[in-house]
Amino acid sequence: MSKLAPAIGIDLGTTFSVIARLDDLGRPETITNAEGDKITPSVVLFEGTNIVVGKEAVKAIATDAGSVAECAKRQLGQRVFDKLLGGRHYPPEALQAMVLNKLRQDASQRIGEIRQAIITVPAYFDEIRRKATQDAGYMAGLEVMNIINEPTAAAVAFGFKEGFLNPDGQGAERCNILVYDLGGGTFDVTVMELNGKEFNTLATDGDVQLGGRDWDQRLVDLVAEEFIRRHRIDPREDANTEGRLWRECEDAKRTLSARMKTSIACDYRGQAIRLEVTRDKFHEITQDLLDRTAFTTRQTLQAAGLDWKDVGRVLLVGGSTRMPAVVEMLRSLSGKEPDTSVSPDEAVAHGAALHAGLLLARSNGPPPRFNIRNVNSHSLGVVAVDPQTNRRRTAIMIPRNTPLPVKYKRSFKTIKPNQRSILVNIVEGESPSPDDCAQIGKCSVKPLPARLPADTPIDVYFRYEENGRLTVTVNVADKKIRHEIERDNSLSQDQLDSWRRFIVKPVG
Ligand code: AMP
Repeated sequence: MSKLAPAIGIDLGTTFSVIARLDDLGRPETITNAEGDKITPSVVLFEGTNIVVGKEAVKAIATDAGSVAECAKRQLGQRVFDKLLGGRHYPPEALQAMVLNKLRQDASQRIGEIRQAIITVPAYFDEIRRKATQDAGYMAGLEVMNIINEPTAAAVAFGFKEGFLNPDGQGAERCNILVYDLGGGTFDVTVMELNGKEFNTLATDGDVQLGGRDWDQRLVDLVAEEFIRRHRIDPREDANTEGRLWRECEDAKRTLSARMKTSIACDYRGQAIRLEVTRDKFHEITQDLLDRTAFTTRQTLQAAGLDWKDVGRVLLVGGSTRMPAVVEMLRSLSGKEPDTSVSPDEAVAHGAALHAGLLLARSNGPPPRFNIRNVNSHSLGVVAVDPQTNRRRTAIMIPRNTPLPVKYKRSFKTIKPNQRSILVNIVEGESPSPDDCAQIGKCSVKPLPARLPADTPIDVYFRYEENGRLTVTVNVADKKIRHEIERDNSLSQDQLDSWRRFIVKPVG
């Protein structure tokens, strides 16, 4: 085993997570978990003081649903997860940290201690969710080398497979690819230009509340409504029964990817039904979800300034792209055969491991083997007051789809003499109304130097890093001044440290 730090990439998914590394020859490979599986359900069970993550936690949904946390990724950015677990409210990033901790511990058992990793996020994640993901990594005992976008990671894995990243790298001709990534809980579409070893993102869009879970939900509702029609009771009113039904429906959905029909059983309070569902029926009840992804796909292509004829490949990523309806929709939309050559489950983690390898090699000297250029997925703005209407509005500083990193200077002025502080409200989003944007936080600049006259310019520099994280610097008369971003729903360093002590247990 090599003594060098392993290059680790983690795909922290809404429903499943994957950890990968580069082998001694620099090839990505998935590390299996303690159960011997390549993918680990992102599900957490609280059993007294014991925390169980993965397959066993999934089994408990049918019997002990009240103690199980699922889909915490969808709630990142909120102060607490919306379900009480063992009488306690957990921040969603702490639940994500428990999943990461399981991946780290299991992988450490196989390949030796793991400290550093790259974690992926949906391209459409806003700054708040990116920070929450980085915090989850910290709480899981990891040093998060960087966070990168899932579609970009998938494109890197694709480039590797196609031979673009070989030392001679000559396999690559310039081509635009569209990455359609439909996972368990999120949807991303990204248009990239691959030019040899350059991976340039041209545009990205998506929906952090749309994924395979929503397809499952439609089947759950279909069966529940039939149950109500026949027996006048709703099986969804009991958490364990609903949990069992979810599992049945997710299973049925997978079956419908391979077969034209299946049946779903549900029993509750001594009554039972078995409902036959055809693939056509499944398509019919989920058509609007698919249409939403088609709409976003068209919009993203337009935002990239491209037409379908300019797109060389349509790359499918995420477990939900196994649904035949997705493939058919993209085929008819693009007029091309969608590319399913990368493993939809593993591509993201593999790309992240390749990127980790790149960063580690960078710090040891050899030249980088590929470059990634990203764009921001949301516009960055501050809250301003319209002098004409006196109403609060979003003043956009960095529009979405701007290549990163990018820096923007905005000058504020002191209103009165000897003013000692200013407060800047930072938001992300496209709406002119700040209330409809994501509130990143308040940046308070204090103390300002004493005795500044009124109208003194205060220069605030906003910088989006390559990973979509925001940094702020403030200058007055060429001197840097202290500032702090107060985030409403973020954990303090003390809280992070305390969660880290709680979550990270020594490997047994
Ligand atoms: P990911 O987040 O990429 O791991 O994707 C997980 C999602 O893919 C879950 O919603 C799964 O139910 C879904 N999925 C996995 N395999 C299939 C399949 N064969 N047919 C339909 N959906 C699937």
